[in-house]
Amino acid sequence: MATFIEINVDDGEYTEELRKKLVAVCPVDIFAVENTRVKVRPEQEDECILCEACLDLAPVRTLQIRKTYSNECLMARGEGPNIESLDSDSNGESEPL
Ligand code: SF4
Repeated sequence: MATFIEINVDDGEYTEELRKKLVAVCPVDIFAVENTRVKVRPEQEDECILCEACLDLAPVRTLQIRKTYSNECLMARGEGPNIESLDSDSNGESEPL
């Protein structure tokens, strides 16, 4: 059970390839694919070394690492497939401020 780190992933928009890449990118085996979905392995969560490789890979807002000791959250910032479908505006143009 995690004590210091909580990791949440929403892989609903991920391709099969991206799921496999996420599993492969973590040096401490925190992610696994079960029944075609990415799962966080709770027994591994506290092994996270905060290398942020998963955050660089996962599309924006689909993965979050929370440091429970400081409540700081690190958010995914990658450019995985279907990233535009996660935004309300899917044509790539920004709404005026
Ligand atoms: S930050 Fe690094 S160690 Fe932690 S879950 Fe992501 S890839 Fe794994």
